[in-house]
Amino acid sequence: MSIKRIGIIGGGQLAWMMADGAKKLGLELIVQTPKKDDPAVSIAEDVVLAAVNNVEATEILATRCDVITFENEFVDLDGLSLLEKQGICFRPKLAALSPLLDKYHQRCYLQDLGLPVPQFFAVESLTNIESQIKNWQFPIVLKARRLGYDGQGTFIINDLTTLSTIVSQSNTHLIEEFVPFTKELAIIATRSVNGEIVTYPVVETQQQQQVCRRVIAPADITPNQAAEIFAIAHKILNSLEVIGTFGIELFITADGKILINEIAPRTHNSGHFSIDACVTSQFEQHLRAVAGLPLADTSLTVPSAVMVNLLGYENSQSDYQTKRQQLSAIPHTYVHWYGKTESRPGRKLGHVTILLEQPHSDLESVIQAIESIWYPD
Ligand code: ADP
Repeated sequence: MSIKRIGIIGGGQLAWMMADGAKKLGLELIVQTPKKDDPAVSIAEDVVLAAVNNVEATEILATRCDVITFENEFVDLDGLSLLEKQGICFRPKLAALSPLLDKYHQRCYLQDLGLPVPQFFAVESLTNIESQIKNWQFPIVLKARRLGYDGQGTFIINDLTTLSTIVSQSNTHLIEEFVPFTKELAIIATRSVNGEIVTYPVVETQQQQQVCRRVIAPADITPNQAAEIFAIAHKILNSLEVIGTFGIELFITADGKILINEIAPRTHNSGHFSIDACVTSQFEQHLRAVAGLPLADTSLTVPSAVMVNLLGYENSQSDYQTKRQQLSAIPHTYVHWYGKTESRPGRKLGHVTILLEQPHSDLESVIQAIESIWYPD
């Protein structure tokens, strides 16, 4: 079938950044998103104004497009599966999402595949926790099983009292060992309708208060470590029979051990550098997979790149035009502003990518130049 119209569940920045790829490939984007000022509304051919978990709205979306994909995974999977049974085409298929939406199920899925994950267990009761963590040391990590993002729902816990307080409010958590990582890494991978897989260079991600602040491409790791991560990505995408782009977050420890933190079943913040620094962006690549087109070159076009997220640091309605102009004036810098009308602390408002001549040279000063313009002291 010839695919021309792509429905996207979610109209945030990840859908907004698909616009260039869609234009290049001659595709139209139709977006299901709750608010008319959501970023992707401005680039969509057509919009279904509704929450991402509104299945009736997705049924309407389906009448206006050839295939439906996701920029947001907080959907009603049971409801959508009725639509899939009726013949509505989702790419990736819902079966590729279903083991991933609950963080506990996701960990179990990866462990069953024989892939390396931190030690973990599901919270059932406080007594069960005390016996399970008997041989562990604090800190430990407590995570909401569902709907967590940007560190919301993830707690680094230093003592039993704090743990008991959070757990007594709800038991839909999982607990995992705190990984003493030396770096956090990520990889973007795309799988086509025919099962072809392409991967982007492994990147280093740096978070503050559990929110991604910067991404460095490529990561300073050994070729063997990169090969191990490529193999992990292939195994995950093949076993889920993914059609589309997924992001995989990982930890690396001082002794070089690699552990998977999380799979995002969609394009991911750690791949934004690809817009300016790679032959093909992760967004175009995703659309290629979803539209049944051949995948394209993922190589870097420069030796190295740094992406800095422009996170909200106050409650405001400012469009920060002066700061954006100052950032754009830095050589080899590309500012992407998502057009959100409201800033809140930690909210992703935009990002900046800086292209570098040398890998890993002078990173600190480049990052400092960006962040000193963006963040007040
Ligand atoms: P979210 O889905 O909200 O992004 P994550 O599970 O990715 O939440 O956690 C956010 C951040 O918290 C990670 O990037 C990492 O910095 C930290 N973190 C999460 N799990 C662990 C862990 N087991 N050990 C150490 N740090 C962790």
